[in-house]
Amino acid sequence: MSNHSELTIEEKLLGKIAGEDTGIEIKKTICSICSHNCGIDAYVKDGIVIKVEGSAENAASHGTLCSKGAAMRQYLYHKDRIRTPLLKKGGRDSTEFEAISWENAMEIAASHLQKIKDESGPESVAFYVGFPKWLRSFVKRLCLSFGSPNFCTESSTCYHATALASELTYGYQSSPDMKGTDCLLLWSANPLHSDTSSAKGLLKAVDHGMKLIEVGPFVTPVTKHAEMHLRIRPGTSGALALAMANVIIEEGLYDVEFVNQFTKGFEEYRSYVREFTPKAAESITTVPADLIIRAARLFAKSERAAIKSGASPTVHHTNGLQNHRAIISLVGLTGNFDREGGHYVVPWSYYHAPNGLDTRDGEFEQARSAEGMPARVGSDINPIWDKLKKEGQSVYLPFQIKSGKPYPIRSVVGFGMNYRMWPGSDFMKEALNKLDFLMTADLFMTDTTRLSDLVLPVCSTFERQQIKMYPGRFGLWTEPVIDPIGESRSDIDLITDLSAALKLNDPLFSQGYKACVDWILEPSGMKVADLEQHPGGCVLEKGSMPPYQKYRQNGFPTPSGKMEFSSSILGEAGLEPLPKYEEPLHSPISTPDIAEKFPLVLTTGSRLPMFFHSRTFRLPWTRRLSPDPMVEINPVDAEKRGIREGDRVKLSTPKSHLIVKAHLTGKVAPGVAAMYHDYPGADVNELIYPDYRDPISGYPGFKSLLCEVESVT
Ligand code: SF4
Repeated sequence: MSNHSELTIEEKLLGKIAGEDTGIEIKKTICSICSHNCGIDAYVKDGIVIKVEGSAENAASHGTLCSKGAAMRQYLYHKDRIRTPLLKKGGRDSTEFEAISWENAMEIAASHLQKIKDESGPESVAFYVGFPKWLRSFVKRLCLSFGSPNFCTESSTCYHATALASELTYGYQSSPDMKGTDCLLLWSANPLHSDTSSAKGLLKAVDHGMKLIEVGPFVTPVTKHAEMHLRIRPGTSGALALAMANVIIEEGLYDVEFVNQFTKGFEEYRSYVREFTPKAAESITTVPADLIIRAARLFAKSERAAIKSGASPTVHHTNGLQNHRAIISLVGLTGNFDREGGHYVVPWSYYHAPNGLDTRDGEFEQARSAEGMPARVGSDINPIWDKLKKEGQSVYLPFQIKSGKPYPIRSVVGFGMNYRMWPGSDFMKEALNKLDFLMTADLFMTDTTRLSDLVLPVCSTFERQQIKMYPGRFGLWTEPVIDPIGESRSDIDLITDLSAALKLNDPLFSQGYKACVDWILEPSGMKVADLEQHPGGCVLEKGSMPPYQKYRQNGFPTPSGKMEFSSSILGEAGLEPLPKYEEPLHSPISTPDIAEKFPLVLTTGSRLPMFFHSRTFRLPWTRRLSPDPMVEINPVDAEKRGIREGDRVKLSTPKSHLIVKAHLTGKVAPGVAAMYHDYPGADVNELIYPDYRDPISGYPGFKSLLCEVESVT
């Protein structure tokens, strides 16, 4: 009903209808439960959010909210929200906290950090940003101003390794142009569960004739829309990609002009992929050879083709980085890089990605150069990561905290930090307990904040300002739609106050968030004020998308100036320059002795649509949809073990075990067991060794471990 004039006030209030008579206002904000930041219309009465809806004018989310966003009120007003700064009472093992003032909290934080800096050097304090990510440039600026090189993020285990693989190959990161492509290779991605805003576009493109090839061990909601599903054994993507390259090269389906003029190392690559005949790859991947051939032909013969992979599934393996290089090499091999309907270049920047704006966030972060500071965490083990990502590889934080080598890390300042994301999370917990001072900022009391000496409450997007730039040249600026919960504050205020308490004399921080963003945007000619005029967001007027095929004029930003099948950077570092396939460290093929006792491949960390890492397990609406931690196995494997649906089972790896429920489903391939991460009380990351990792990126092998599932019912 569009006209509500016939309704009584009581009926309108019951229907939560906005208007002067009901006193209900619609205010514009965004959801920050995941990084998509869908637009939200918040219905606010008397300072309380009484209803949320998707904002129709948001060009990225088009008025939709997923189940997590729809449960926003339970998130905002949850009893676990931290309401005041909290100081731990008693020793490290205590779980008691006392409420303190912000003034007191800043004094305590500054005195501890300054003392550690004076005694052990600024590098002994690590700064870490988990989720959300929007504050990263501010924390990095704080970290470098303080004098520490150890800025770390959750990207140490999420997405950055795929970016690293792309940068080593093309010098750029890129994304698929799903609107314009004829064939999409969807590689270990389940957008309907993890990327709802792009899922709509994907299904629309299929409706308009785009051919879809799905690769991955699971049957997903997208599978029924695909021409074919290549159901690989987890951890074998590299072998599959090389076999597709084999078919494409042997059948002369590659882009000869692009390969001859713009690539390096093609002959070595061609010679290497000869080993990966479809038949040979079938025995590694379990994908039938004829399906590999059909997929390779469809991909290469399509006029415009692209690859969309999940942020991390292809790189959460001990062979992940080279596997991902093998996958994305198919884009260049078929001439689909930096072209309409293929892949477009995406700059890594919160403020202009990928909108063609000229911004200076890089300069903003580097308030002080890290040059001359001690080496970053993990740089000795993963020098390529260090060189290209220019941040600490936080997977090594617990090792350095525990060993004190090459120098001590005595304090961590963590924003949205969740130690359960670390491989061997119990190992990370032990390390955090060794710190002299752990300070965390979060919305909720969590397992990590409970370990902390000082806990600071931060706001949700509903309670603070934030700039957001979406792909597709759409941007917005939010203002608070309600008062902060308790004494919580914006992360940015906390960062700038801490900078002041540490007497870092930052001339930009002292002017506040808006002034900092204006400074970052300045070269683009845009100001926050331009966005403020459009509370629900607007199409950006400034900047323009760069043209395609820039490499024809400028080459590629790699050492050779070409797309590199054979990576110069890897070669110079004494590493394998070609995207060579290695078995996962533990697999039925590489470690048959371990596989005898642990015959199933355990893959962890895929998504359920109602959970986003640990963030929404506490919400009644979402938790009710999947209340118990469970391991999913194929009915064939269950029958062999006498396991029935819902049985209590022991899920064990060589490191440890958990007791969970069994869910029998054909969604999971035979020989594979799958478990979601972050379930309270059943942390699957405790089952993986902390050093079970990729040698180049440092990424944990979360998605190809060996395990066994046994009934304990
Ligand atoms: S949690 Fe859902 S509604 Fe919120 S930003 Fe992510 S996709 Fe959008």
